[in-house]
Parts: sequence; C-alpha cells; structure tokens
Amino acid sequence: MMMKKWLILLLSILVLLLPLLSAAEEAASSPEEGWVCLICGEETAGSGACARCGTVRNIWRCMGCGTENLSELCSSCGKAKADSLDEQALSPDEIRAFPAVRYLAHTGRPDALCALASYYEIGFPLEQDLAHAFTCYEMAGTLGYAPAYIALGNLYDRGQRIDRDPFKAMEYYQKAADLGSAEGFWFLGTYYEEGTVINRDYSKAMEYYRKAADLGDPDSLMSLAYCYAQGKGMERDLDTALEYYEKAANAGSHLACDYLGYLYMQGDLVPRDTEKGLSWYRKAADLGNGRSMFALGYAYETGEGVEKDPAQAAAWYEKAALAGRADAAEAWARLQETVQ
Ligand SMILES: [Zn+2]
Ligand SMILES: [Zn+2]
Repeated sequence: MMMKKWLILLLSILVLLLPLLSAAEEAASSPEEGWVCLICGEETAGSGACARCGTVRNIWRCMGCGTENLSELCSSCGKAKADSLDEQALSPDEIRAFPAVRYLAHTGRPDALCALASYYEIGFPLEQDLAHAFTCYEMAGTLGYAPAYIALGNLYDRGQRIDRDPFKAMEYYQKAADLGSAEGFWFLGTYYEEGTVINRDYSKAMEYYRKAADLGDPDSLMSLAYCYAQGKGMERDLDTALEYYEKAANAGSHLACDYLGYLYMQGDLVPRDTEKGLSWYRKAADLGNGRSMFALGYAYETGEGVEKDPAQAAAWYEKAALAGRADAAEAWARLQETVQ
C-alpha cells in the first residue's frame, strides 16, 4: 500500500515535470540539440547548413545594412550581432522578427520566449501549437517576465482558443501583479469592480487601480476617473474624476484625451470650452483615436469652435475613415461635392 502511494506520487511529479522538460529542450542551445537558422528561423539538428534554406549555421544578416556575417561585428557597418538581433526581434513584421525571436528564445531570453509563445498561440509565422505556446509562456513567466502571465491570463479570460476559465485567468493576473506588473493590478481591479467572477468590492478595485496608477498606467488612471465619476462605492466626485482623466490623458491614454474633448465640447459636466475641447480632440487624434478624428471633421464641417472649413473637415473625415470609422467614410463622400 505504502509502495503504491509512493509510486503515484512519483508518477504525478513526473507528469508535472514533463512540460518543463520539453520546454527546457525548446530552450536548449547545446550543439547536440536543434539550432536555429538566423536567416529563416528553421530548427535544424546536427551541424552544417540549415535544412530549409541552406544557410550555414550562425550566419546572420545585419539589420543596419543587410550584409550577411559570421563574426560578431558586421563587416560592412560594424554593427554588433547582438544589437542587430535585438532590433530584428522587435520588428513589427513577424516574418522578419521570427528567426531572431526563435534564436533568442533558444538562449532562454524571457521576452523572446514570450514572443515565440504568441507565434505558437496565433499560428503565425509558425503552425499553431497551443501546448508549445503554454510551455514557452510559463517559462518566460517563471523567469520573471510578467507580460507572459498577462498573455496566459488573456488566453483563459477570452476563451477563444481554449475553454474560458476566469478563475485561472485571475490566477495568472495575480502572478503578473506579484511581479509588479501594472497590467496585472489593473486586471485584478476590473475583477473586483465588475463583480461577475468574484464578489464585487469597489474599495479593493480602487486599491488595485491605485497600485497600477502609481506605476503610471493610463488604463488604471482611466478606471479611477470612472469610479469617481460614477460614484462607485462612494459619493460621486467630479472634480477628482476630472483630475484623473487629465492624469490618464497626460500618461498617453487616447481614450482619456477623447473623453476630455467630448466633456469640454458638450459642457454638461464641465463649463463648455470649445478651445480646450478641440485641443484634447487633437491630442487624441495624434494618438490615433478615430472618434476624435471624426469629431474634428464634424467641428470643421459645422464650424463648432472653429471657422467652417470643408477641406479640413474632409481631411479629418478621411483620417478617421483610415482609422476604421465607416461613418467617417460616408461623411467624407458627402463632403466631396462641397469641397470640389
Ligand atoms: Zn534557414
Ligand atoms: Zn551592417
């Protein structure tokens, strides 16, 4: 009986360890394991040349000038291999970033492990492999990289690729928060504010939002503003709400800039001030907010706070349409006759 217990315990430990072991394999960089081609990102076993593109092992392409090199410094421009790889890994073009991301992940870099995990999660530029995604995220998190735990939280929270499990999601947000992540604090705050998964507790929500806000997180400043504006768990306090909206706007929240623009243009909660309103709309538009772009188009079309200017109006509507507002495309088309 005793024996059996031990066996079960041993087996369960092994089962727990297995994903970690295969993860270690993924991250291993010893010559006996696969190595990553720096040109195409293929994993090849043994030494020699890449099984996919034929490039010799360790050849890298300089991000500064495009020259291919074997030595640590680019022979043409002198750029260091490590700097070039870092730059490549951060490229917004996933196909371009992929070889560097996979290579750096193999060296155990947590940010690269997290990026590689996201490729496995979305199935681009690698084939989708959720088991691999989980392993890489977990490894990055264990190495202290909070965004990996946020990504795992989001996976469970959204429930698109796996069954939704908000409790599991919350656990991962807590792990991120334990690493000091503002985003982690913010997500925990939303759980307490919404009260759909756990019991609603506004003071706890505000506590988490404050922790994130202290780290300069714009979303949390917005959430605090909203709590004060709505009087969640307290009396409405519009002055403090406005203070937090401005803090969020200054921390770079386009939503806060847009909302402040709206408040000053409407003049319900604050004295109407179209100059202030339009200047907040401009800030929001600069940050890519489509609603503010549309509002600026409307202001120029109707002469609200500015002189009427159909050409400017059309230009703002066009920007808003390019930012994804279908109503702006309609307004733009309508204005074309006037502008001609
Ligand atoms: Zn290759
Ligand atoms: Zn170069």
